[in-house]
Amino acid sequence: MSEVRVRFAPSPTGPLHIGGARSALFNWLYARRSGGRFIVRIEDTDLERSSREWEENILDSLRWLGLDWDEGVAAGGPDEPYRQTERLQLYRRHAGDLLESGWVYRCYCSEEELAAWREAQLAAGRLPGYPGKCRELSETDCKRLESEGRKPVLRFRVPEGKVITIRDTVRGDVSFDCNGIGDFIIVKSDGIPTYNFAVVVDDHLMGITHVIRAEEHLSNTPRQLLIFEALGWPLPEFAHVSLILGKDRSKMSKRHGATSVQQYRDMGYLPEALVNFLALLGWSPGTEDEVLTPEQLKQQFSLARVSKSPAVFDPEKLNWLNGYYIRHSPVERIAALAVPYLQKAGYLPEAVDEKLLGKVRLVMAAVREYLEYMAQVGEHARIFFVDPGHFDSESLEVLAWEHVPAVFEALNNKLAGMDGMLDEEGAKSVLKKLPKELGLGGKKVYQPLRAALTGRIRGPELHHLLPALGVHKVTQRLKKALAAVQ
Ligand code: GLU
Repeated sequence: MSEVRVRFAPSPTGPLHIGGARSALFNWLYARRSGGRFIVRIEDTDLERSSREWEENILDSLRWLGLDWDEGVAAGGPDEPYRQTERLQLYRRHAGDLLESGWVYRCYCSEEELAAWREAQLAAGRLPGYPGKCRELSETDCKRLESEGRKPVLRFRVPEGKVITIRDTVRGDVSFDCNGIGDFIIVKSDGIPTYNFAVVVDDHLMGITHVIRAEEHLSNTPRQLLIFEALGWPLPEFAHVSLILGKDRSKMSKRHGATSVQQYRDMGYLPEALVNFLALLGWSPGTEDEVLTPEQLKQQFSLARVSKSPAVFDPEKLNWLNGYYIRHSPVERIAALAVPYLQKAGYLPEAVDEKLLGKVRLVMAAVREYLEYMAQVGEHARIFFVDPGHFDSESLEVLAWEHVPAVFEALNNKLAGMDGMLDEEGAKSVLKKLPKELGLGGKKVYQPLRAALTGRIRGPELHHLLPALGVHKVTQRLKKALAAVQ
């Protein structure tokens, strides 16, 4: 079999959406799995809605997800340029071929004429496809219409009475009746090709072997098939991946929460968690495994295990996966990721030096198990940066226990002189000795300490709290807590 060549072909009219990211991912995985090439092409023929900013946003999101491409925009390659607006002469050439062979014809009907036709057809309960008015115009007719200032579009002559069958790797054979399609435009009057035409020319010229894309393009595919056939080009293999639905089973939209990759990135999701989650939207490894790293996905992905039924976007599953990756990443990485959120919360200055970063590592070691995504870090880490302004009723109760001043004094004595040297191990050993030395049960010692340091009796481990706060802060908080119950 020839080398696999797949592509992701976004229109730069908005940020990279979850659905687009999933299409990109499936193409990337397929290429990586089969040792093929992954190509990124920009479909910017919608001049009004496309922008370079959106293109950058999409490419940035792809890079962040780790979906590197072998050829394409920003990467270069044998089929440059990779932006459709820079390939207009290619479309013009092939449109010319189709005009010559009679597969397309010039159509001069105005928008108003077509709108009136559609309305009348619908009112009569008939299909509103193009009426074929310009199908048989002669060269002389065309010249006359052009001399009136009319600019033609190019329309594809859809054969009547034909049935087109798409062999889809995911969906099986899907048939469309040509009569329901109607002659469609391949080049607009301003010379810009439509999506259906440009996509075929590019997929052919770029040697695309597999078109893996969202189900919503299935209805475009018969038009593309007609163009492939008319140009005498071989068909790629098609695989249309099912829609992504929200938990309420309606099409995933803003109503269901964040829909763009950028939003998830901003909230502090890890790229490998999102990749893991997206891979399971419509594909399954055939095992019970839920946590699959990009490396494992690359080895296991296959189109045969892509499901025909819609995929349901479950935010709780995404949060669970992300929490898993947060807990299992090196704490240094998680600390670096936490910095901007802690700065935003006002807990860290703009410049974070190595010493402060060391503290953030200690804090993250303590709180990361509570996080689903990094933007939640502020609320969980607060107690490490801000003195408890308030002691809840349970805390006040334990702080009032008679032996508490003795416990605090014993800890202060042990910590004295340990400033700057108190690490997790040191804290553990100090904490372990206290109950025995005081002749008290563990709970009697640890609950008031936690209450004094955090304002609550449940929360981060003391052996995380002590080194992260440092000796000075610990002593201060113990003092303040005693004052609160006197
Ligand atoms: N530009 C199209 C889109 O963004 C690509 C569709 C395709 O993959 O053919 O939906």
